[in-house]
Amino acid sequence: MKQEDFFKNLVAHCKEYGFIFPSSEIYDGLSAVYDYGQLGVELKNNIKQYWWKAMVQYNENIVGIDSAIFMHPTIWKASGHVDAFNDPLIDNKDSKKRYRADVLIEDYMAKIEEKIAKEVEKAKKRFGEAFDEAQFTSTNPRVLKYKEEFAEIDKRYVKALEDNNLADIKQIILDLGIVCPISGTRNWTDVRQFNLMFSTQMGSVNEDASTIYLRPETAQGIFVNFLNVQKTGRMKIPFGIAQIGKAFRNEIIARQFIFRMREFEQMEMQFFVRPGTELEWFKYWKEKRMQWHKALGLGEENYRFHDHEKLAHYANAATDIEFNFPFGFKEIEGIHSRTDFDLSAHQKYSGKKLQYFDYELNESYVPYVIETSIGLDRMFLSIISKAYKEEVLEDGSERVVMSIPAFLAPYKFAILPLTKKDGLPEKAREIMDKLKMQFMCQYDEKDAIGKRYRRQDAIGTPYCITIDYQTLEDNTVTIRERDSMSQKRINCNDIAAEANFAF
Ligand code: ATP
Repeated sequence: MKQEDFFKNLVAHCKEYGFIFPSSEIYDGLSAVYDYGQLGVELKNNIKQYWWKAMVQYNENIVGIDSAIFMHPTIWKASGHVDAFNDPLIDNKDSKKRYRADVLIEDYMAKIEEKIAKEVEKAKKRFGEAFDEAQFTSTNPRVLKYKEEFAEIDKRYVKALEDNNLADIKQIILDLGIVCPISGTRNWTDVRQFNLMFSTQMGSVNEDASTIYLRPETAQGIFVNFLNVQKTGRMKIPFGIAQIGKAFRNEIIARQFIFRMREFEQMEMQFFVRPGTELEWFKYWKEKRMQWHKALGLGEENYRFHDHEKLAHYANAATDIEFNFPFGFKEIEGIHSRTDFDLSAHQKYSGKKLQYFDYELNESYVPYVIETSIGLDRMFLSIISKAYKEEVLEDGSERVVMSIPAFLAPYKFAILPLTKKDGLPEKAREIMDKLKMQFMCQYDEKDAIGKRYRRQDAIGTPYCITIDYQTLEDNTVTIRERDSMSQKRINCNDIAAEANFAF
């Protein structure tokens, strides 16, 4: 199946079964805003819990908070978001479509990378076992030509971004011959800057109402609470503060479903360290976070690092963990060494000391910070895009199955009495009532059993429990596993033990 078709089917499936709906759908939707349905909210909550456990519960030196979305407007002055949270945008005069200029260039560069990967793939097939990738990519003339082209564009592009030279960014687009995908022309406007923060008024709508912003990241809520948490929690450096919450960005181009939204959720952790040790901790969190992603079982080959060459104004090292989404490798999590930029800026703007007294060194300092920042919605998308499968079974019939990792699945068990009579529903209810105290379960007695299995496959329920006449005699049920479709009989009392949802 073509990737585009796959993605369309996935989006349609999410809507059909209650994972994700377009926001305000009866009013024709609101661009780049989505609602999570009855199944989506369960999966989302499970992802949050999985992250929270890994970060807060398993690390004695990390605690969580939940700060407000509205914050003092000066916070965004201090953080640099008022002056520098801009995307360069460009319009095509013929199609009237708007694009992010940096994304146009980066997509062009990604295509060169794809060409290199294709050459490597071809050579791998040709040379078989004897293939040496490092040697091939450093000697093959075609690969070298692509690499050179890539490096040249990269150098020019990074310089233009660093100098904030919008004219040169446009010139790069023209020189590379990048065309608008809709009109196919190169008739571009100049590049302009556009601030991504949403603003609103707080207080009555008169002169003393002040402009406040919807937070574009959750991190600042952590920084401004740094001393509150450190003091009340008696935290010793190194320690971390974690938070899950909504963030808002007025994205210029909003597409690719829940990959780029205007209202989304982040799971962030700021780790406060002694100045001078930040690069060691950066390395530590880089590895740790990658391990966490890989442990999910979506396939190790679907993750890679993308180290940043052009660093944001606050960072001295940065990397993205990229995931192989249906539309290619894209950022799912950012890990940044933010130096003491944020705390120092808040110190300056608030006039309050934000320092830590280190008893071992017998001195005070503004701690340095390592940030791990992952998009909850992107994590959701990564899981469902690998889970969604259209399968043809041995008997020629077809099924759609969501192979969501069992511990994250919205429902853990489906309780299915074989018929609606003869005491089977009552027995099924008895089993349901026991299991539901511990697990999300769904009861279903409508339609033939095969059809019910298909419905559960489509929503990713790992186990179906079927209650039949034998159950009434010997208290055993059939347990059917989603992915293998294998079935066996077990005692009713062993159902919970049979399934392992631990993480
Ligand atoms: P991008 O380059 O894709 O715009 P970013 O580098 O601006 O992302 P960060 O500011 O590092 O992203 O935000 C941290 C994480 O928040 C990202 O890794 C991503 O998972 C998530 N995120 C950022 N913007 C969005 C968005 N518009 N919709 C959904 N998730 C987002």
